[in-house]
Amino acid sequence: MEIQAPRAVRNVMDRLEAAGYEAWLVGGCVRDGLLGRAPQDWDVTTNARPEDIHRAMGGLETLDIGAKHGTVTVLSEGTPVEVTTYRADGLYTDHRRPETVAFSDSLEEDLARRDFTVNAMAWHPARGLMDPFGGQGDLEARLLRCVGEPARRFQEDALRILRGLRFAAVLGFALERETDRALREQRELLRVLSPERVREELTKLLCGANAAQVLREHPEVVFTALPELAPMEHCAQETRYHCWNVWEHCLHAMEAVEPSPLLRWAALLHDCGKPAVKVFDEEGVAHFRGHDKESARIADELLRRLRFSNGEREEIVTLVGRHGPPLDPPEKRVRRLLSRLGEETFFRLMAVKKADALAHAPDWRQERVGFAEKAEAMAREILARQEPLRVKDLAIGGEDLLTLGAPRGPVIGQVLNALLDRVLEGTLENERQALLERAQMELGIRN
Ligand code: ATP
Ligand code: MG
Repeated sequence: MEIQAPRAVRNVMDRLEAAGYEAWLVGGCVRDGLLGRAPQDWDVTTNARPEDIHRAMGGLETLDIGAKHGTVTVLSEGTPVEVTTYRADGLYTDHRRPETVAFSDSLEEDLARRDFTVNAMAWHPARGLMDPFGGQGDLEARLLRCVGEPARRFQEDALRILRGLRFAAVLGFALERETDRALREQRELLRVLSPERVREELTKLLCGANAAQVLREHPEVVFTALPELAPMEHCAQETRYHCWNVWEHCLHAMEAVEPSPLLRWAALLHDCGKPAVKVFDEEGVAHFRGHDKESARIADELLRRLRFSNGEREEIVTLVGRHGPPLDPPEKRVRRLLSRLGEETFFRLMAVKKADALAHAPDWRQERVGFAEKAEAMAREILARQEPLRVKDLAIGGEDLLTLGAPRGPVIGQVLNALLDRVLEGTLENERQALLERAQMELGIRN
């Protein structure tokens, strides 16, 4: 098996070797190369020290992003290549990253500090595969196994717990028994990690093809990282519309949306407020009134804690907060939603609704998916007809209102929005004369 690195990457390796150093491909690109998957990025490991790497690169642009850890990023033909000096990790004092890094002259030592055996292989175009920890065998067995003693490796850096679940979700690998047991046992250490690192790993995990299965098999780990979701696990849904508890329902919904971060997070969180609002009626049927609002509130808290950007957080919260009824919306409702959310968010919301529908009891799936599809079709027609959806699509503007004698200030926007509401509803033509007449009335009301 050969690993075909792009020319830009080979160029970096050739320069290091021409200067008398060893340079190997290492980590994810070797793993993915052997699996026949396209690598995310290319990492090179070398016995050259950072200053030697700079010298060997000649005219190529370099960035010292991780200089402290011995990493130089080389921009080769526009491709960033991370070149890292062999190192042996120093002391880990806070379950996060090593306090110190010591450069090393040994490739094997460099591989020994890496997390999983399948990530601890190096490849050299002439010397072939360097695999001191049985990574290739584990790759064939589709197993994630820690390099060294699992509990210790997770204590050194608790992020490895989530990385283990992430690789299991993305690659569809199983966790080797001891590794699995240790990551469950060490889960409390997740609390010391920075929210940003947790967010990044969880997002990659959720986008994995096997995400639902991995979360299902590791609830205690997931709920340590996301305690807001713990009540979902034992929240049964005693209604004829459902066949799973809230947690299973959300896992199925998550599996049913395409693997993009916003959709996967929204589907996972969409019913997280159900446990808090659950009540029974006299017949023993469960009701979850107001669960979408409560879910949006909890999602907002969780996403803030994980330091999501405002834009991403607001989008996910919108999708969660609006995932509920109406089931079979009339066209004017679709038009209003399209106007309020914008095209992109509207179609994301429909994707969440379809996924939610597919996670209902079998008898109810098709009908509910059908409602969302009908709304999508209506929206496409509304867009194709270029119907007015925003204030700026109206046939009159602020200047016209000033001419009618409106005062400058917030009234202008209020009146235009009132006109748009009527146009969206279908009770007013988007036609100049009609709009001006209605505007006059609105101004009268406000005087
Ligand atoms: P991908 O790039 O597909 O997300 P990757 O395996 O390349 O996966 P990176 O985060 O790019 O992951 O890290 C590159 C390599 O560095 C890994 O393959 C692994 O060998 C090592 N590594 C990264 N993070 C850790 C860690 N927390 N502990 C130990 N080794 C790590
Ligand atoms: Mg990588």
